[in-house]
Amino acid sequence: MRETIPKKTKEALLDEYDHRCAVCGGDRPHVHHIDEDASHNDLSNLLPLCPNCHLRDQHNPTRKVEIQKLQLFRQFKDPAILKPQFQPIFTRQLFLENIALNNEAVDSIETQANELIEFVRSFEMGEFYGKKLNEFIGPLRRAFIMSLGPGSDLRYEEQRRNANRDYRQHLLTNRESARALLVELLRYQGWANA
Ligand SMILES: [Zn+2]
Ligand SMILES: [Zn+2]
Repeated sequence: MRETIPKKTKEALLDEYDHRCAVCGGDRPHVHHIDEDASHNDLSNLLPLCPNCHLRDQHNPTRKVEIQKLQLFRQFKDPAILKPQFQPIFTRQLFLENIALNNEAVDSIETQANELIEFVRSFEMGEFYGKKLNEFIGPLRRAFIMSLGPGSDLRYEEQRRNANRDYRQHLLTNRESARALLVELLRYQGWANA
């Protein structure tokens, strides 16, 4: 069953993309639901795609772009996001999607953040962007006040848990800016403009 997209929404989308396919610029685009939910008609979930890009690619399990990558493409519109060279960056930032706000250990999250930052450093302009990215998502310096005497272990544990939550909050606050930075980085890569 197909649910219809409100006319106004469809018009706004097509106007935004000048009535062209978002991927290849082709004519007469269909409207694709990025999250594959045909009843989810938010503008941010819709993408105009020409019949080729739509049916041959996006509705073909072996060719389609991951939903999360398509969301990034919808948000930033940079075609470099769809290039294979972006894939290793894309994969390394996926962990940002699944940050829960609790006080559980953050070691593996810190490792993934550091891996992404290190990876970014290998790109053109990478030193600059790595540094900025580190401010947004790098591990926070955690200084614990050690105390002696009864209950000190518990106080230490409590500080750790608070620090874990702080870092998680830090990532949730900054992940959008971090993603924007990753897309901005693409501007300086030769392959992105080729
Ligand atoms: Zn197309
Ligand atoms: Zn579709």
